[in-house]
Amino acid sequence: MRYDLAIVGAGILGLGHALAASRRGLKVVVIDREAEAIGASVRNFGFVTVTGQQQGDCYRRAMRSRDVWEEVAPKAGIPVEHQGLLVVAQRPEAMACLEAFVRTEMGQGCYILTAEQTMAQHGGVLSGRPIQGALWSSHERRVESRFAIPKLAAWIERLGVTFLRKTLVKEVQQGRVLTTSGVVEATQVVVCPGDDMLTLYPQVIARHQITRCRLHMMKVMPAKPIKLPGSIMSDQSLVRYLGYAELPDSEPIKARLRAEQPRTLAEGIHLIVVQGADGGLIVGDSHHYDWSPSPFQRAEVDDLIMDELHQVLNVPGAQITERWNGTYASGPETMMRETIDDQTRLVIVTSGTGASTSFAIGEETIAEIYGRA
Ligand SMILES: Cc1cc2nc3c(=O)[nH]c(=O)nc-3n(C[C@H](O)[C@H](O)[C@H](O)COP(=O)(O)OP(=O)(O)OC[C@H]3O[C@@H](n4cnc5c(N)ncnc54)[C@H](O)[C@@H]3O)c2cc1C
Repeated sequence: MRYDLAIVGAGILGLGHALAASRRGLKVVVIDREAEAIGASVRNFGFVTVTGQQQGDCYRRAMRSRDVWEEVAPKAGIPVEHQGLLVVAQRPEAMACLEAFVRTEMGQGCYILTAEQTMAQHGGVLSGRPIQGALWSSHERRVESRFAIPKLAAWIERLGVTFLRKTLVKEVQQGRVLTTSGVVEATQVVVCPGDDMLTLYPQVIARHQITRCRLHMMKVMPAKPIKLPGSIMSDQSLVRYLGYAELPDSEPIKARLRAEQPRTLAEGIHLIVVQGADGGLIVGDSHHYDWSPSPFQRAEVDDLIMDELHQVLNVPGAQITERWNGTYASGPETMMRETIDDQTRLVIVTSGTGASTSFAIGEETIAEIYGRA
């Protein structure tokens, strides 16, 4: 069997390419070494984030990908667990940064809530500790990745895409894909290997200065049921998310957090909380950069994340029911797309934004190969 396009990797980036290609009527095969997705794409928050993404391409890709999620989720039988984002400002410097953010072009679809408005609308879920106000964004969507990614793959398969699982791609030779299950012939090949930095094109990956980022994640069950209005973030996110952090107005909150929370910042911690259908909260995260990430998960990092959770949300007695970590490829750019030869491209999301941007990246690569639709 000869294919128009072979895609290496069945994470969200490979699936984003497969969807865009199948919509062009191409004969597509997706090849993955695992029996099912176990990488970053199922370990993340399933938080399709627009507000806070870096101004420019990343923000634009997030907006487009959000629209694709919105369109395909019902078709693929994927529930959208909640919509929108509440960034709770605990410090005046954070509030000033959020106010500056909504004045930028990225502020469309966002508005500021005063402390009183925030408490009136969302006080039931908040801890009751003093706040300065909040930003509400209507753009975000949240899917439960561990269920959403298999459902998305199954739906794409029903569209006519072939999946070869438990198959490692050892080498790509201009349209000949050498795998542990034999040779797959394809006119074009797109390699989406996630954070596998050695199997294919290690020199190219090294040239992009890519390493790994490891994150601590937890599932937390509140003792009393609560219903989040959307995804939740807090002051520390203004340091990590480039849409805020690149604004000059973020300098005062950065300086204050460096003084007040040096350990939290050193562990790369900021708070993201999203909710699933069973009421459980997915809570994270931390950021540790290492080519070979330590497999040992320090409890103090989880404790710092949980401290921030209790600062922001009213969840006394909440129990941690699951802990895991995940890794993603990390580099100086938010993503890389490299033409290896006229039949082969390597595409990697090199920041923690793949759940939010992969559909758009897939469309761009397919347009680059086959021309605009
Ligand atoms: C804990 C955590 C939280 C995150 N939170 C968010 C978030 O809130 N919002 C957001 O937008 N992003 C988030 N991200 C980032 C996002 O999950 C990643 O950017 C995205 O999943 C990367 O997708 P991928 O398909 O490139 O990689 P992966 O999901 O890792 O998939 C790569 C696939 O390629 C396969 N593969 C690799 N090499 C080969 C080979 N040679 N042969 C066969 N198969 C191969 C692997 O088996 C794997 O299945 C988070 C990531 C983590 C880890």
